[in-house]
Amino acid sequence: MRTANVQDRLVLVFDDGVVDVETAAEGRFSSDPQAVFDRWAEFRAWAESPAATGHERVPFDERDLGAPVPRPRQVFAVALNYSDHVEESGAATPARPAVFTKYPTSLTGPRDTVELPSALVDWEVELVVVIGAEARRVAAADAWRYVAGLTVGQDLSERRVQWEGPMPQFSLGKSFPGFSPTGPVMVTPDEFANPDDLALGCALDDATMQESRTSRMIFSVSEQIAWLSAVCPLLPGDLIFTGTPAGVGGAREPRRFLAPGEELHSWIEGIGELRNPLVAGPAHPHGPHGPGNPPGSPVHR
Ligand code: ZN
Repeated sequence: MRTANVQDRLVLVFDDGVVDVETAAEGRFSSDPQAVFDRWAEFRAWAESPAATGHERVPFDERDLGAPVPRPRQVFAVALNYSDHVEESGAATPARPAVFTKYPTSLTGPRDTVELPSALVDWEVELVVVIGAEARRVAAADAWRYVAGLTVGQDLSERRVQWEGPMPQFSLGKSFPGFSPTGPVMVTPDEFANPDDLALGCALDDATMQESRTSRMIFSVSEQIAWLSAVCPLLPGDLIFTGTPAGVGGAREPRRFLAPGEELHSWIEGIGELRNPLVAGPAHPHGPHGPGNPPGSPVHR
């Protein structure tokens, strides 16, 4: 099953169009794409019934797609979770998941334009997990049962805010408005032959920057859910950004960052693609489109 957010309304997505959930369910489920996760099991059962699957489908414009999960209560993210990215970052392989948050105000849709606050914004394509049931101290073997679905995400990162100062500021540097594009749809795990092995990648205009498979994660989706839920209850509609493979701009020689006028294209097999145009945004305290990090700064990861 595939769901999406079209003009802030929850829809079921089929090959030949979409079904508006509130309309087809005659008000039983809200039009709010976020509200559905609190009743996910009930919604899934309805969505597989003839009332949903047999309902008239209507065309939609991809430009009207919003973030499939627009207002999660918590957004977790895992750093250094692919060994080739650990290597390009010059870091030690983590023994436990390295966790930060992307504040929910950074979320945006799969076709939305993203404003760049500086000349040091980097890309990180990531599989994003959507939680479908409250998860507390879940065993890895049971973890997929708590997943509503998967979507494509970008963990955009302003590398100077991330690294400058006495200690790293991962959460802040990765949370400017628009720094968390997601979409285009959310796909339930049963739709994949193996949800732990999906091709993912991203390109700037036509130049491929990252290409890998989610099976190369150091900590699998299940292990991340077990690790996170041992501390924080995971709530329905929460997101987990599961880490990025090699190929980020800050680790390139020479370093390469996002520029106004480019389009960031991100994809995951079986889910779809993000296409986010980039424009210059308002300055932030480090200055507009600054000269770059001081030599020797660890601007990657
Ligand atoms: Zn990341």
